Parts: sequence; C-alpha cells; structure tokens
Amino acid sequence: MKKVKEKPANARVSDMTMHQQLEAYVGQNRKRYEDLLGQMVNIPSISMDPAKANDMRRMATLARQVLSDAGAEAQIVETGGYPFVSAGWMTGAHYPTVTVYNHIDVQPAQEPEWRGDPFAFQNEGGIYRGRGATDDKGPALSALFGARFAIDQGVPINIRFLWELEEEIGSPHFAAGLKQRAEVPRPDSVVVSDTIWIAKGRPAMPYGLRGLIGARLTLRTGSKDAHSGVTGGAARNPLAELMEVAQACVNAKTGEVKIPGFYKDVVKPTKEEIKSFLKSGFQVKRFKAAYGFHSLRTDDPAEVMRRIWAAPTFEIHGLTGGYDGPGIKTVVPGHGELKISMRLVPNQKPEKVFDLLKRHVAKLNPNIKVERESMQPPFKGSFDGPYVECVKRAAKAGFGKEPAFIREGGSIGAMVTMQKVWRVPILFLGLSLPEHGYHAPNEYFDWGQASGGMKAFAHYFSELAKMAKR
Ligand SMILES: [Zn+2]
Repeated sequence: MKKVKEKPANARVSDMTMHQQLEAYVGQNRKRYEDLLGQMVNIPSISMDPAKANDMRRMATLARQVLSDAGAEAQIVETGGYPFVSAGWMTGAHYPTVTVYNHIDVQPAQEPEWRGDPFAFQNEGGIYRGRGATDDKGPALSALFGARFAIDQGVPINIRFLWELEEEIGSPHFAAGLKQRAEVPRPDSVVVSDTIWIAKGRPAMPYGLRGLIGARLTLRTGSKDAHSGVTGGAARNPLAELMEVAQACVNAKTGEVKIPGFYKDVVKPTKEEIKSFLKSGFQVKRFKAAYGFHSLRTDDPAEVMRRIWAAPTFEIHGLTGGYDGPGIKTVVPGHGELKISMRLVPNQKPEKVFDLLKRHVAKLNPNIKVERESMQPPFKGSFDGPYVECVKRAAKAGFGKEPAFIREGGSIGAMVTMQKVWRVPILFLGLSLPEHGYHAPNEYFDWGQASGGMKAFAHYFSELAKMAKR
C-alpha cells in the first residue's frame, strides 16, 4: 500500500476553508469526472452475459487504472469468477480504515426503448446517459473523487475501495474474494453507495434489506395429462392440490402468511423507524403510478412502507402445468408446479423458515416436493449511533438536507457477506434517484447527484476521522 505523508495536526484546514476548497475542487474536476464516467459506461460489463467475458476483463483493467491514476494502490483480485478491484490509500496504521463498496458490472440493455446505444455514453449538459451510469459506475466515481479530496486535505483516515463485478448476478464469488486478507484487508467500517432515494431533494439512506427464499413446489399425480371427460372425478388434480396448499400458506387478501411459526423471529420496526420512513418523501400515489398498480392492499403510507421494507412476505410467482393456450382444453394435468418466494426480515433465518415451509407442506400434502431455489438472509445495519450521525452530517453537507433512514425491500448479497466476514458497521450513502432508471432503458446519472455525492463522501471521511478522535 502506498504511504501518504502524514501531516501534523495543526496543518489541517478549518471546516470553513474545507467547504470552499471542496466547492472549488468539485468544479475543477467536473470534466475529468465526465470523461472517466464515459470511459466506464462505454464498456458493456454485463456480468450475466457470457459473451461479455472479455469486456468484464477490460472493465476490471480500466477500473484498476482509474483508481491508480487517482493515486490509490490498486489491484485486481481473482475470486474464481469475475474478479473485483481492491484499492486504497494507507495514510497511517493507527487511523481508522473505511472501505467504500460499489459495483461496476451492469444489467443487460436490450430494451427497445433505448433512444441511443446504451454503451455509447451521452453527456446531455450534465445528464449522463448510458447503462450503468447510475447503477453503479457514477456513484463509484463520486465516492472516489470525494476520497481523493479528503486524502489531499490530510484527513487522518485510510480509505479503501471494493469495486465488484458480479453484483448483478448475486455476488457468487464475493465471499471467496474477501478471504484474501492481504489484498482485501478488514476495515473498521464499510460504506455502500448503490441505493436509490425515494424522491429528488430528499436524501434517503437504507439501513436494512429483506432476505429471500425462492422455492418450487411440484406435484406429479400421473405420467401424462388425461381427458377430463374420461378420467375426471376419479383423477387427482395436481393444480387444484397445489392451489389448496398455496391458500394454506398465505391469505390472498391480506398477505398474511399462514405457515405456523413464520412470524416468530420477526422484529417489528419501532415507532422511531416508522417516523423516519415517513420523512423519506414516500408517496403512495407515486408508488402506485411507478408500478402501474390499480389498487393496493392498503393506502396508508406508513403501512405501505412497513409492508414493503420491514415485513416478510409469501409471494406466488407462477403456477404451471395443464393447458394455458387460448380457450380451454379439458385435460386433467399429470403434474403441476407452484413457483413461490418469501421475503424475510430481521431476525428470520432462511434455513429455519424453509424448514417451516417444508413441514407445513408435508402435513398438508405429503406428495408435494419442495425444492429450494435461492436463499439470502435479511440484513440490518445501524439505525442510530455514531456512524449514522456521520452519514447524517455528510448527506447534509453534500445535499443540504439530513437524510431519512429507510429500509429496502430487496436483497444485496454482498452486504450480508461483508457483515458475516468482517463484522463491522455497514452504512449506506446512496446517490441515485428513482427517475435515473435503475435496470431500465435510458438509464442516467446527473451532475447534481454526482457533485453532491463527491461533497457528501469528502465530508463522510472527515466525519469518520473526527469520530475516531473523540
Ligand atoms: Zn447496483
């Protein structure tokens, strides 16, 4: 790791001067930021497309270059899958170390709605269009520019970067990479920048994510489909039997899960948490419009947020088997398959919940086979405490407003892995807006969020350093 000369404490500039210097730094670096983001967006680093293996390597090489050009010691770390890039500055062994996590792989971009080549970066006067601009290459660069400033200012902190290339495929080799302790040292805390605010002008930072179990319930009652006129009445109907089990698992009207013991380990959100959710700028109307819902199970904002962020679910994704062409065909299906998943919240344990499901189904219908598809534990970081205070001050400095602390309904595997391997606080400092279009056509990032992000990160690093001194 590169040693940066330590400055004596009295050489540290006052906060006022830092503010002005940061403002100037951000302005001076705009062109460079845009140029680098363009180079990164132009590489189609689609991790789920096997045909892009060469581009994935190119992406890793460019990322290492970008980080080392910024003055950090950077290396490509092999994981067994696509590598990740680990980089950083070591300014003093006794200073706190923070690792900034981002990912630089992207979603595919084959949607017909794209107005131009998704991998030909467009700068439309501060609107940065292209796949990966907001998820998550733009935020990665903002954090890097903020870090470079903090290092130049002599902030007594070690800053490291972890740029993953398999996030969009569920981080299958991330844990293996983290085990390489020499190349990926354990930090004192992690900050993740890969999340979306609820509304523009209202910073919102998650502190919790739901977990996930996916499963397939299959039932075979015959070797083939049969004629209902000839066999119906005597023949068992696997689809009807699967529907009966589905009904015994979830109340379709309320969403209440009926598997015995399912809610036992659920920790309900506190009043403070719900109060914080309400500060995020969440609107039921906008939520309905964004997803095209005609109606919801509830229209109460606090209740909607509780349900999508802090409560577990049982969802039916599909029921296959029998006939699904036009009109009807009078078959008795020989087999059926029910595709389900459950979102989990703290402190539910995926293995335990899967066991509950299996036992419940076995009791209802011992012929049904239950097979697990995917499994991800829920994640809960800190809702209060000194690190959260640092995030609050940083967001305020970058965007003029204290953030609301919210949860997210989805799952990010890498967070859970870092928490398990490192056991250090993990904070979020996300920079994306809903209108930026995560995973959507015409994805973009913008200079307002990019420059605010640089400032927020620069402040976050200096807040962490101050905290360590207290
Ligand atoms: Zn992302």
